[in-house]
Amino acid sequence: MELGIKGKTALVCASSRGLGRGCAMALAEAGVDLILNARGAEALEETADAIRSATGVKVTVVAADVADPEDRARLIAAAQGVDILVNNAGGPPPGIWSDWNRDDFIKALDANMLAPIALMTALLPGMIDRGWGRVVNITSGSVKSPIAQLGLSNSARAGLTGYVAGTSRQVAPHGVTINNMLPGIHATDRADALDGGVSRAQNISLEDAKTQRLATIPARRYGTPEEFGAMCAFLCSDKAGFIVGQNILLDGGAINATL
Ligand code: NAD
Repeated sequence: MELGIKGKTALVCASSRGLGRGCAMALAEAGVDLILNARGAEALEETADAIRSATGVKVTVVAADVADPEDRARLIAAAQGVDILVNNAGGPPPGIWSDWNRDDFIKALDANMLAPIALMTALLPGMIDRGWGRVVNITSGSVKSPIAQLGLSNSARAGLTGYVAGTSRQVAPHGVTINNMLPGIHATDRADALDGGVSRAQNISLEDAKTQRLATIPARRYGTPEEFGAMCAFLCSDKAGFIVGQNILLDGGAINATL
C-alpha cells in the first residue's frame, strides 16, 4: 500500500532503540525524512546510520531528554515544521502502591504525560497552519487494563489519554489527527527489564518469568518493533485521516475484552 507520506518529515522521540526505533524505521521505509531523538548520542548515531543506509531518507539527530525542559526546547527548535510527531519516552519503574512518593509521580508525569503534551503544544500550531499533521503517542496497554505493579505508568498514561481525547477533536477540523498506540509486551529492552523484575520478585529464573508471561498472551509470543512500527506508519499515513482520538491496542490478545 502506498502510504502517501513520501517527502514528509517526522520527529520520532525516544527512538534509538525499541518501539520508537521500530516506528522510525517504518516511517523511513515510507519515504519520510526523520529527526531522531534519544538521550545518548552514541546509540542515536548508530540508529541514524542504520536507517539512512536501509532507506536512503534524510536523518538528523537531537540527543536530548524529552522530560528536561532545556533539552526539550532544543528538540522543539530543531523540529519546527515537522508534519509528523511520534511521542515516546522510557517507562517508569515497577513497584507497589506504597513505594511511590510525590517526586516519583512528578518524574513519571514529566516523562510520560507532560513531555508529550509540551511537544504537541509546540508543534500542533504549525501542522494546523499547513492543514495536515499526524501525532502518535506511544502509551501502554495499561491504559485499558491497569498493571498493578506499574502504578506510576497507569497514572501518567491515563492523564495523557484524557488530554488526547479532547485535543484530538479540537485539531481534527484542520486535517491533523492525534491517536495513541497501546503496546502490550514487545521484545525490547523494556520487556527484558520487566521480566527481570518478575524473576527477582518471585525468585524464579528469567526464562521461567518469560514462559509465565507467554502463557498469558494468546498469540504465544512477544510483539516486535517492526509490527509496532508498521501500525505507526499507517496511522501517520494519508490513508488514516479519518482515525481520530483512538487508543489502538497491540497486545497479541492479552487483554481479554470485547471492546
Ligand atoms: P526501550 O527501553 O526498549 O527503549 C526506550 C527508548 O527511549 C530508548 O531509545 C531510550 O534511549 C529512549 N529514552 C528513554 N527515556 C527517554 C527520555 N526521557 N528522553 C528521550 N529518550 C528517552 O523501551 P520500549 O520497549 O521501546 O518502550 C517504549 C515505551 O513503550 C515506554 O514508555 C514503555 O514503557 C512503553 N511500553 C513498552 C512495552 C514493551 O513491552 N516493550 C509495553 C508497554 C508499554
